[in-house]
Amino acid sequence: MQAEPLVLRGHHVLCVLGFRGYGYSEQFVAGMRAIVNRLRAAPEMMVELAVGRDLVCLSCPHLVGEVCKKRGAESGEDTAAHDRRVLDWLGFRVGQRLAWSAVLDMVRQTVKPEDLPNLCRECEWSPLGACEEGLRSLLNGATVK
Ligand code: SF4
Repeated sequence: MQAEPLVLRGHHVLCVLGFRGYGYSEQFVAGMRAIVNRLRAAPEMMVELAVGRDLVCLSCPHLVGEVCKKRGAESGEDTAAHDRRVLDWLGFRVGQRLAWSAVLDMVRQTVKPEDLPNLCRECEWSPLGACEEGLRSLLNGATVK
C-alpha cells in the first residue's frame, strides 16, 4: 500500500536544500532534521505540495493553531504568499503529489542561485547563504545536500 505523502509547503522545498542544522528551537531543528533525513534516504518518497502549515511547521514554536505567526499577524499570509511564489516558479500546483526526486529535477531546471534573493525575499535565513549553497550543491549533482 502506498504510504501517505509527506506534506511540504511550497517554500520549504527550498528550505530543505539549505538546512544546515539551524532553526527556531531544539525541537524545530530535530523535526526538520528528521524530515531532511527522510528525503535524503528515500528520494522516491511521495510529497504533497501545500500552501500553509506542513509537517515542518508542526515542530516550530512560531506555529499558533494552524497559522505561522513568526512575524506577527501578517505572517500567515506572508508565508502562504511565499509558498505560492515558489510553487508558481516551479510550475507546480497546490495539492500536487509527486516524488521528491521529481521536485528536485524541477528545482534543477528552473531555479538558479541568483534567483533566491527574490524568491525568498522575506526570509531572514536567505542572506546567510546556506540556501544558495544547498542549491549549488543540488545543481552539482547531490540528491539533497
Ligand atoms: S516559521 Fe512559520 S512557516 Fe516556518 S516552520 Fe515555523 S510556522 Fe512554519
